Amino acid sequence: MLKEPLQHMWKLAPLRAQVRAGEYIIAQDVQCSSKVVKRFFKGTLEELRTLKNKMDRKDPLLPPWNREFCWYEVIDETKPARIFIDIETVHGEYDTVRQGVEQMISMFKMVYGDEYLWHVADASNASKISFHVVGGPLLHNLYHVGAAVRRFSLWAHENRESCAGLFDNTGAFVVDEAIYTKGRQFRLFGAHKMGSDRVLMSSTPWWEALVNVPGVSMEQLEIDGSAPVSTSSPAKVLFREVNGSYQRVSTIHTVRNHMTYGIPTFLAEVVRWLYRYDPKIQTYELAFNSHYKTWRMPSRSTRCQIAGRKHKSNHVWYTIDAMSQTIHQRCLDEDCAGQVHVLSGCTEWDERLHAVCPYVAQQNSSIVKQQLGLTYGDFLRVQKENGVYIIHSTRPSKAFRPNLIVWKQMPENIVLPCEIAIFFTSDKVYVSLGTLNSWAGDILRVKDFGPQSPEPFYRIVGKITQNQPVPNVVLNSQQREMLTYLSTHES
Ligand SMILES: [Zn+2]
Repeated sequence: MLKEPLQHMWKLAPLRAQVRAGEYIIAQDVQCSSKVVKRFFKGTLEELRTLKNKMDRKDPLLPPWNREFCWYEVIDETKPARIFIDIETVHGEYDTVRQGVEQMISMFKMVYGDEYLWHVADASNASKISFHVVGGPLLHNLYHVGAAVRRFSLWAHENRESCAGLFDNTGAFVVDEAIYTKGRQFRLFGAHKMGSDRVLMSSTPWWEALVNVPGVSMEQLEIDGSAPVSTSSPAKVLFREVNGSYQRVSTIHTVRNHMTYGIPTFLAEVVRWLYRYDPKIQTYELAFNSHYKTWRMPSRSTRCQIAGRKHKSNHVWYTIDAMSQTIHQRCLDEDCAGQVHVLSGCTEWDERLHAVCPYVAQQNSSIVKQQLGLTYGDFLRVQKENGVYIIHSTRPSKAFRPNLIVWKQMPENIVLPCEIAIFFTSDKVYVSLGTLNSWAGDILRVKDFGPQSPEPFYRIVGKITQNQPVPNVVLNSQQREMLTYLSTHES
């Protein structure tokens, strides 16, 4: 009579509470009527290998639910973890992606040293390219692994030509950045999904390619120096490069105070879109958190995309980041804390908030009129005052954009070098474009001017939030509104 050596349960939390040092929790796919669910059990490596041997021998005494090798390592966030990576695409060439995997591993070797083992498993077939990679140094936990992968992601996006194999035919990054969350299950080498014949093939046996292994671990902070937490957001959503360094544009912590209530005009359509997505949102509770620089929208809904089900009582809520144009669903449930579900598909962002901001110069009161020859487009005339050539436009200043054509044909009597400015007569905004040193070709654009080139709005916001001097720029009403939210409630 075989005594079942391993405890098994349908729920993860009670099993986690019982797990002892040296034990692993394994999830097994179980066919349950029409869908596949997970059943959990635990054991030491030795117990698990014994069980797998029985499976291979088709031991008739094995429980019926555990006869196929559909095993996943349930990664424990309290334990050290090796780097684990999931690569998947249906829009790529096998050889190219395979090469990308090798490039990725050599990049990690350059960062961490080449003394670490790296293991690759391949579950590709004719329609799907799929690799699992496990190896490298032992990091503090799977969140630190997430930070390592997010750093790599930022590098890869900046150096696409060096790792072209990691971007598929649609331009998408093939590394899944969403897997570094609490309770993550990672399929073992040699295992397959229930109902699929794609096996993770590798020369490395499963027990040598586990993520949680004992040993001395090292820290891996996020690119902005913060401590990593559970998040499914890709690096390009979390961080934005500002003046050569990365800053967090989207926060992943619970919000509490520093709240300003009300719906800003530039979010009105986004809120309407969110209402169509979740009619239980509490529209009038929308509040700006000046600590995280995001809006918080509570909901009475219990439908949670993080857990993939409805909670009994815990409600979800949303954070709206107007600057990075992202909406995250979060959740009050304990198991979902710190995690986010990224809502995609919102097309209602107000682009006026992101209009480029030209610099403003001091307007001189006494402008000496001087006709300077032929101008095109909206410009009626050009005046010269103290060496500054001022182009008059009847348009409002919001028509300003960096690809605006100033001249198609050079005024005849202009003397170079000289200062060029535009005066928008309808709202009396004067914009200095900078010095024109030379000019060749048929057209001259605003962006061809030198050091005073217009700045994207997020750079202006970055300067304000870092208490740097704010440049004298032209802002539209949406941008001014955003700045009032940012400046009235400093944390
Ligand atoms: Zn939840």
